[in-house]
Amino acid sequence: MDHFHYRNRVLYCEDVAIPELANQYGTPLFVYSQATLLHHLTQLQQAFAPADPIVCYSVKTNGNLSICKLMAGNGAGFDVTSGGELYRALRAGAKGDHIVFAGVGKTDEEMRYGLNSNVLMFNVESEAELFALGEVAKSMDRRAPVALRVNPALPPKTHVKTDTSVKGTKFGLDIDSVLEVAQKVVGHPHLEIIGLHMHLGSPILSAQPYREGAEKGVHLIEKLRQQGHAIRFLNMGGGFGIHYRKQEALPAQAFAEVILPAVKASGCRLVLEPGRFIVGNAGVLISRVLYTKESGGRRFIIQDAGMNDLIRPTLYDSFHRIWPVVPDDSVPVMPDDFEAPIVGTVYQDVVGPVCESGDFLAKERALPLMKRGELLCTFSAGAYGMAMSSNYNSRLRAAEVLVTGDTHRLIRRRETFSDLVAAEEACI
Ligand SMILES: *Cc1c(COP(=O)(O)O)cnc(C)c1O
Repeated sequence: MDHFHYRNRVLYCEDVAIPELANQYGTPLFVYSQATLLHHLTQLQQAFAPADPIVCYSVKTNGNLSICKLMAGNGAGFDVTSGGELYRALRAGAKGDHIVFAGVGKTDEEMRYGLNSNVLMFNVESEAELFALGEVAKSMDRRAPVALRVNPALPPKTHVKTDTSVKGTKFGLDIDSVLEVAQKVVGHPHLEIIGLHMHLGSPILSAQPYREGAEKGVHLIEKLRQQGHAIRFLNMGGGFGIHYRKQEALPAQAFAEVILPAVKASGCRLVLEPGRFIVGNAGVLISRVLYTKESGGRRFIIQDAGMNDLIRPTLYDSFHRIWPVVPDDSVPVMPDDFEAPIVGTVYQDVVGPVCESGDFLAKERALPLMKRGELLCTFSAGAYGMAMSSNYNSRLRAAEVLVTGDTHRLIRRRETFSDLVAAEEACI
């Protein structure tokens, strides 16, 4: 259930009219629905309940402190990929034993920070990293808890830039060599292998890869135990897909059905690292039309959100539904299918102000003719939107607002010109 809907041809987030938010906080503006965030978290917690899961919210998806705090307050743990994300999780009130530390290139300093924070485990992705972690733990007279991240070498599932479990990506240990590596650290005084980890890629719209991955996982866990490692955790990562085009995403139940039997067979406690599934459909990006123009046989809508606010279309050729916040009655209130012809529309490119030909949110998109000052909504922008935003072109990063019921509050203020130069000012 996503709590964004039209009432009398005005877009609402829960019980708040979006134009009100745009007027009060300005644009571009990320708007999040608390009810939607919690609905998706709860859906996962309930679907996987038989495995007593630790649902570790993936901080890289959207690291906003208020969103992390909401997650911590509702029983989520955290999946962090850097020292910075660990800092965010701790600032949001997370306990170390609910944090898993992932990432293919952890520095010694990050490992020390993780050990000092008593993280539940480090997801380790290479033999070199494993021995480096052993050294760091030794220097602190500690034993580091480790899950080995395996690349299960599955067929392609999603965009090449976000598929992490085909052969030849930089992620994880090769499935053919993971046991060889594990053998080298049997009885290691400063490393304790307690889990097996995999993250298949993202977004994934089918349960089948999880079935295959989990089955390979169970087999490996058996072998690791035979080596003498007391494996207690099976971490199946994240990657569960969401609605970007229409209602294409699977419910949490569908993934649970294929993962739970493997967890049971392994006798492990389940760890999950969902990000997009929780926050993706819970956020939208609101922008204001600056100009329209025709050029070279194409029509352009130039609006105030660009690739620096939402880079997914540029980076991954991603599709986001875009529709007026206040559609007039010449068009449907909200089309069912954005890829079919839509009455009252013409094909247009939705672009931003950034000086790059790659600065667009949509190309050849069916939209009504827009006027200067009107508002557009880019849906499903809660994940990898703000988190991947930048100051390119010295643009100020957008503000973020959290809505709950008929109330709303700023959870990140819009940046100012002095924010832009803050880190440089002391150095001139
Ligand atoms: C990115 C990432 C996730 C989260 O992926 P989603 O698609 O947002 O669920 C989880 N685990 C790891 C290791 C990741 O890199």
